[in-house]
Amino acid sequence: MAQSIENDLRCPCGTGDTYAECCGRFHAGPAAPTAEALMRSRYCAYALLGRDPQRFGAYLHATWDPATRPALAEPGPEWMRLQILGASGGPFDDAATVEFVALYRDDDGARHRMHELSRFRRESGRWLYIDGDVR
Ligand SMILES: [Zn+2]
Repeated sequence: MAQSIENDLRCPCGTGDTYAECCGRFHAGPAAPTAEALMRSRYCAYALLGRDPQRFGAYLHATWDPATRPALAEPGPEWMRLQILGASGGPFDDAATVEFVALYRDDDGARHRMHELSRFRRESGRWLYIDGDVR
């Protein structure tokens, strides 16, 4: 049985807000207003994926462009921290990019950083992740 996510947990995406006030809102259904908010909520879904693969896997699937998404979101490494370096596109745009660094730890405990420039587009009011270039 899936573990429930405590709503007062500090959000894994690093804003300092609680999960319920941060990415939890978007995981519950309402559309993320900006590509950066969507990016954070997707990082957060990856960070929590192991706790509820069905729920967070469904969120990753739903926020991934149907043209580029895989059949299943693979369980990844242990995500430790997200740093947003820059974002283009606001609430009135339909295309955006987000540049970020994500820190993670692999099975051997070694730390790594992933630096990516991600592309997003908005369809019917919802931002979708398209793909990204690893820097
Ligand atoms: Zn968050």
